Amino acid sequence: MLKGKTALVTGSTSGIGLGVALALARQGANIVLNGFGDVEGPKAQVAALGVQVGYHGADMSKPAEIEAMMGYAADAFGGVDILVNNAGIQFVAPVESFPVERWDAILAINLSSAFHTTRLALPGMQARNWGRIVNIASVHGQVASAQKSAYVAAKHGVVGLTKVTALENATTGVTCNAICPGWVLTPLVQKQVDARAAADGVDNGEATRRLLGDKQPSMQFTTPEELGELAVFLCSAAANNVRGVAWSVDGGWTAQ
Ligand code: NAD
Repeated sequence: MLKGKTALVTGSTSGIGLGVALALARQGANIVLNGFGDVEGPKAQVAALGVQVGYHGADMSKPAEIEAMMGYAADAFGGVDILVNNAGIQFVAPVESFPVERWDAILAINLSSAFHTTRLALPGMQARNWGRIVNIASVHGQVASAQKSAYVAAKHGVVGLTKVTALENATTGVTCNAICPGWVLTPLVQKQVDARAAADGVDNGEATRRLLGDKQPSMQFTTPEELGELAVFLCSAAANNVRGVAWSVDGGWTAQ
């Protein structure tokens, strides 16, 4: 379905980003990976699906490195047809003691990076009159949780950016939508399970049940594979007129 297209997925060496990259590769899209940590493993997983795979290690908190990454995608792959803004980090603390440096980093990585990749990808998409921008926002793009001021502010910002980008391109073949997951068991969330286990003096299983029980009525984690399949749908022709939505995949979290 996506043969001949190129998808750039930020923060795709792990977790949700890798799940989305693999799902798009299964549909035939060539993939540009980005992110830290082990790169060879994710590259091999994508290559095994028979598509071309590239990698750029740009730090999403640095606009100049983001520009270099987009330049690499243009030179090596002829541009970006599908942009998945996924890179993100978390930090928890009350507003009055939230470290300023963490606030700045979360806003830069979770929100501003999506502005930079989007502004740089749009001209090519508009020229080809086809493009898909999928922003991995969060349930925290729609509702709040205590201790997550920077993350919630950034994710609400991502939903806003999604709507504006969708509107500005509404008469074209370029769509922009957000996916809003609740809890997904990735390294980012395992840290929060560990913190809950330590705080409550319970084991991993009980900490997981408490974490889910607080917010996610299904009592199940969403998987990166499920989110990958939703991204595939948003990239399909059937989603031509799906524009500017913030699509919850949260086990009922925001239905409460
Ligand atoms: P993760 O920690 O498994 O993966 C994050 C990825 O981003 C990694 O590839 C990491 O190397 C990369 N990354 C981090 N900082 C970066 C930077 N400065 N520059 C480039 N890459 C960077 O996390 P995840 O849970 O897969 O999260 C992915 C996205 O999904 C994030 O935007 C997160 O906010 C969002 N999300 C996660 C959940 C969840 O429950 N896990 C829920 C809702 C939304």
